[in-house]
Amino acid sequence: ETDSDKLAVDGLPPLRAVVERHGLATKKALGQNFLLDLNLTGRIARAAGSMEKHTVIEVGPGPGGLTRALLMHGAHKVVVIERDDRCLPALEEIAAHYPGRIEIIQGDALKTDFTALANKGPVKIVANLPYNVGTQLLVGWLEAEPWPPYFESLTLMFQREVAERIVAAAGDSAYGRLGVLAGWRTRAEIRFDVPPQAFWPPPKVTSSVVHLVPRSDPLPADGKRLSLVTQHAFGQRRKMLRQSLKPLGGQTLLDAAGIDGTRRAETLSIEEFCRLANTRV
Ligand code: SAM
Repeated sequence: ETDSDKLAVDGLPPLRAVVERHGLATKKALGQNFLLDLNLTGRIARAAGSMEKHTVIEVGPGPGGLTRALLMHGAHKVVVIERDDRCLPALEEIAAHYPGRIEIIQGDALKTDFTALANKGPVKIVANLPYNVGTQLLVGWLEAEPWPPYFESLTLMFQREVAERIVAAAGDSAYGRLGVLAGWRTRAEIRFDVPPQAFWPPPKVTSSVVHLVPRSDPLPADGKRLSLVTQHAFGQRRKMLRQSLKPLGGQTLLDAAGIDGTRRAETLSIEEFCRLANTRV
């Protein structure tokens, strides 16, 4: 018996052996950096909190390291969405080990209707995705209507630098559109960092796990409009708002919202951004 014949704590083969047996050479184009350590994926699963009654939607499961941790930590049901069909046999093996508890969807998460998956009981969303996809999905989840949304929490891996933008507040150098959207609708916090060596292959930078919980009563604002205002304001973050917001009405808009046009985007509170979003000229 060699090391790779031994089973992991969940009774399935070790992830390294799964990756080798299914020939899952990682693809850069799909942003594949796999987590092969079940202790670490267990830590991410714990960051998502209790899931006994929950459907956990996991985006980008790859060979299933995080999926296995979610199941081991008692997720009632896990729905996985994976774009790379080479990963499906490995995911089917996990499904056979946990009968009735996994639904596997092959497809692009950016084209998935998440609300349609979320019709049975409370939902939590967990993902370790390529960061472009992750950011795009996060913005979609933050703009969800109606609010409070169908999910109870989001537990997501990002590059450390992106995680800092998500949790940034007014005045922070990382404050921008992501910080405004996340701060407006959720309580967002960085739970812990994950070093490059934890992944195969190791990425260039440190990653962080971010946990976001929807606020029950965010300030009223139209998410798309808020996104648009912050995009313009921070698109030229060193300029005064009367300049950067010109395409949306510039000084006229700022006057109507009662905001000094000589200020810069990074000084505005979330409440002030909501006021701008709610003002039409
Ligand atoms: N969750 C696994 C882990 O932690 O080891 C894999 C993480 S890897 C960073 C990202 C995974 O997302 C890959 O398996 C990749 O194929 C998948 N992926 C990339 N783009 C995707 C998309 N648009 N929709 C669904 N899955 C995607």
